Amino acid sequence: MHNFLFWLIVIFVVFEFALDQILNLLNQKNRISALPENVKDIYDEAEYRKSQDYGKAHEKLELISSILSFIVILIMLFLNGFAALDNYVRQITAAPLLESLLFFGILFFIYEIIHLPFSIYNTFIIEEKFGFNKTTPKLFIFDKLKGLALGIIIGGGLLSIIIWFYNQFPASFWWMVWILIIAFQLFFAMFYTSVLLPVFNKLTPLPEGSLRTAIENYAMGVKFSLRNVFIMDGSKRSTKANAFFSGMGPKKSIVLFDTLLKKYSDEELVAILAHEVGHYKKRHIVKSLALSTIQTGILLFVFNLMSHSAALMAALGVTQNSFHISMLAFGLLYAPIELLLGIGMNMYSRKNEFEADYFSLQTFPGSHLATSLKKLSRDSLSNLTPHPAYVFVHYSHPPLAERLRAMNS
Ligand SMILES: [Zn+2]
Repeated sequence: MHNFLFWLIVIFVVFEFALDQILNLLNQKNRISALPENVKDIYDEAEYRKSQDYGKAHEKLELISSILSFIVILIMLFLNGFAALDNYVRQITAAPLLESLLFFGILFFIYEIIHLPFSIYNTFIIEEKFGFNKTTPKLFIFDKLKGLALGIIIGGGLLSIIIWFYNQFPASFWWMVWILIIAFQLFFAMFYTSVLLPVFNKLTPLPEGSLRTAIENYAMGVKFSLRNVFIMDGSKRSTKANAFFSGMGPKKSIVLFDTLLKKYSDEELVAILAHEVGHYKKRHIVKSLALSTIQTGILLFVFNLMSHSAALMAALGVTQNSFHISMLAFGLLYAPIELLLGIGMNMYSRKNEFEADYFSLQTFPGSHLATSLKKLSRDSLSNLTPHPAYVFVHYSHPPLAERLRAMNS
């Protein structure tokens, strides 16, 4: 017989699925609405139709993917699939640490298998059809293998330590794990561009020339010590362009995709870089990290309160206590809180984007940021009329029309 927590999990799963479908539907309806005045010049008639088709192709793929995930999770819940998997790993080993690693390893593998066809379809059918794809099948396979290896080494390593803490210190594991995760996050924030990114991409320092000089002049003007500006070979996967800031202290670096260099003027690139510097100067990176650290702490503390309860195990049809079943049942119950926190973080992020745009405009005046954002939008066939409810839940960046409006006010 299913207990109260089981039905709560089912309600949450159904609620999230329904919410997703409603938001997607609203977004689709909004697609045909009139373009805001300030973004009318971005597409010509043909490009506009192409951007609509591109959006629709993605929506269709996402719909199939989310229906499939929804069915799989319901089957696992109603047919006691998690209990069967728990039983299976217990037959292979009696060591609690290995049991939990094996349990999550198998779930991760199943998840990857289910999502692989969607990833292939997206890259080689949709992105290919709209002229974005540069990924070769060989690169695709290597990317997947590298991702898998990193997942096993880093994810598996971190998980092993967490499980060990959990089993050794049942009452106080939560703050130990919290400190561990903080240390981990700081390490990756510091060394992302020097350790992790080079596994997938080649980073070369921006060579001497007019762009480098323009960037150095700008950085000096705003008193920003900038030692690391890298060009990343994004063009080997996609024609889409991007730029981002990462790292802290002496490790702070700005990464420009090589796809930016060909199509954007020096002034436009400096304006984009000024936006990234704005994120740093306004301490957005440190503040976001602090917020996510607090969230992790709350999550671990609440998990600590619930983790050894028999009701949590029973929710997934299991009687024996274990880290993996507690964690999974807790994760499913925590989903609505996670959704709310995610919405909060997106709101915060959108506010930061406005601030970074403002910083760019203040320190590098002109229309360069606006023209570069318009180009970025056109070159990625982005949706210019997302539904406000969809933006509220999912968007980490404000829609282009809003950013342009804020710049002109
Ligand atoms: Zn930004």
